[in-house]
Order: sequence, then C-alpha cells, then structure tokens
Amino acid sequence: MTIDLDWKNLDFSYRKLPYRYISHYKDGAWDAGKLTEDATLHISEASPSLHYGQQGFEGLKAYRTKEGNVQLFRPDQNAARLQKTAERLRMVSVPIEMFLDAVKQVVKANIDYVPPYGTGATLYLRPLLIGVGGIMGVQPANEYIFTVFAMPVGSYFKGGLKPSNFIVSHDFDRAAPCGTGQAKVGGNYAASLMPGYKAHAAGYSDVVYLDPATHTKIEEAGAANFFGITKNDEFVTPLSPSILPSITKYSLLQLAEERLGLKAIEGDVFIDQLDKFVEAGACGTAAVITPIGAIDNGADHHVFYSETEVGPVTRRLYDELTGIQFGVIDAPKGWIYTV
Ligand SMILES: *Cc1c(COP(=O)(O)O)cnc(C)c1O
Repeated sequence: MTIDLDWKNLDFSYRKLPYRYISHYKDGAWDAGKLTEDATLHISEASPSLHYGQQGFEGLKAYRTKEGNVQLFRPDQNAARLQKTAERLRMVSVPIEMFLDAVKQVVKANIDYVPPYGTGATLYLRPLLIGVGGIMGVQPANEYIFTVFAMPVGSYFKGGLKPSNFIVSHDFDRAAPCGTGQAKVGGNYAASLMPGYKAHAAGYSDVVYLDPATHTKIEEAGAANFFGITKNDEFVTPLSPSILPSITKYSLLQLAEERLGLKAIEGDVFIDQLDKFVEAGACGTAAVITPIGAIDNGADHHVFYSETEVGPVTRRLYDELTGIQFGVIDAPKGWIYTV
C-alpha cells in the first residue's frame, strides 16, 4: 500500500484518482475503450443526456480481503441492470463483458486506492452511460459515452451500526407508476432532491417514498430499498414496478432464507401496518444495511426495534453480507469476482 489516506474517516466524497475507463459509441459501434488520466468529459452542448436526461448509472464496490486480494460483489448484476436501464431510455447497450472488463481495469489501475482490510472502507465504482452528440430534438442520441471512475469511500457507519430515522413523503414521489422508477437514472434522483432536502432540514436521515399510485405502500427508503423483519421470522421487502431492483436487496432475500432460516417475501408493505415489523432497515451498495430506528408518518412516530440499538436479525444480515463481500464468509456460487 503506497497511498497514505485516513481510511477510517473517509466519507462519500469525490476524489480524483489517477485512472478512469472511457469508451465512445459512434457510427453504430463501441470503440476499444481505454484507461485515461483525463477526468473531464468533452461533449456537445446539445447532448441529450444534458437536456432530456438520457443517461443511466451504476454503483458497486471493490473490497480488499484479509489476504490482501481485491474482489467485486456480483458485478454481473450491475452490468445486466445497466442494460435494462439503457433499454428503458432507448440508449445503446453496454455488453456485459465490456462492463466487467472496464470495471476490472479501473480497479487494477487504481489498486493502491483500494482501502486496507479492516478499515470498513472500500473502492466505490461509478459506471456511467450518457447520450452525447448534437441532437436537439427529443430523441435518442446517436453517440454515447460509457465511463467508469472510482473513489475510495469510508464505512457508512463510523461508530458501528446505528439506526436512522426516516419521514414519510406525502407531497413528493420519486417516480411515476409506469415511469422510470425501475431504471437507475439521474432523473429519479433529481426528483428526490427536494424531498431529501426537506427531510434533512427536519432532522431525518431521509424520506420513505410510498407507491405513487395509491400512497399506501412503502416503496423505497431514500435511495435504498426497504426491508422489515416480522415477529414470525419473515424478511419482507416491497414488490413494485416503480422501485429500483437493488442487488443488495436480492442478495439479502437469498441470504435471509438460505443462511438465516427466515421466510423471504417480496410483497406489499402497507404504511399503516408497520406494527407487524420488529425490525426494519434500508439496503443498497452505498448504505449497505442501515437499520431504521423509526418512521414518522404525520403524527405517528413508529419505532421498530430501537432508535439507538441495532436489532439482532439486522445485525446478523449485516454480518453475513459484509462477511461475504470482504471474503471472510463463503459466498453463494458466482457472487464474487476476483480482480
Ligand atoms: C442503486 C439504488 C439502490 C440500491 O441498489 P443496489 O444494487 O443494492 O446498490 C436502491 N434504490 C435506488 C433508488 C437506487 O438508485
């Protein structure tokens, strides 16, 4: 390790690393793609990504193991999801192999920035697909850029797993019923900035979004998926066409059943039936597993397990997931990619 950073106190801030990958799509084909030291994109002012939001992205991490190796967690799933996002926005597809190769190249080129094992820190990777080229009409771009950059990020929880409080959003939705909620696109995030701002200003960690059609069911917890644990040892997570299919969530559904012996259920989570949950959490690559202490919904202040302590099942899920990601616990077949 040649780089000397305060690994234990890193936050989620952009840091310009030496190398990123870039490939251009033009005249119907991707070029060979390459690593570059240039961290600035040069694109037409009339690029559809800038005006009409024709862009999508991914987020995944590289983990350093105890032995010092570096590994990725289910990157094939990120590659597949970016293809679905591209399809929804009429963008060109990035082949799975090209995605995986790009991610590995970026990790290898910046290997000294993959944080040491035991610090909880990881190398966050941000693949980005944008429609470029001068087109002013509302139509798909003819040219695209696929880029992957990276930055070391700290453990989400500096002082260990701590519950966060959320507030239900009734005035804003992040996505429409048949909109782009299932696609990982910037537009959903743009829609979330105002409710997120209001929640933070009121002292909450983020917003709980309800289903946009009826406002009766939980969809997402900020930019993470929601799960609850019932008294009957069930792991329950919402199923809806307008939530983002979290790879962390699908991994937890499987681990809950196979490793913790819980019953894994994807289905409706009604906001007026939170009483059946003894624990709740938010999950995603960045958030890992964030225990939810309480959800405020109007006058109702609903506490799950505790507002200060993490519940036992959430703790076991967290240990299992992060154990697999950092290579301490055996992973289900095909989940780990060595760099
Ligand atoms: C990326 C994302 C998630 C988490 O997905 P993971 O694959 O687990 O990282 C959840 N919700 C939203 C809105 C997202 O954009």
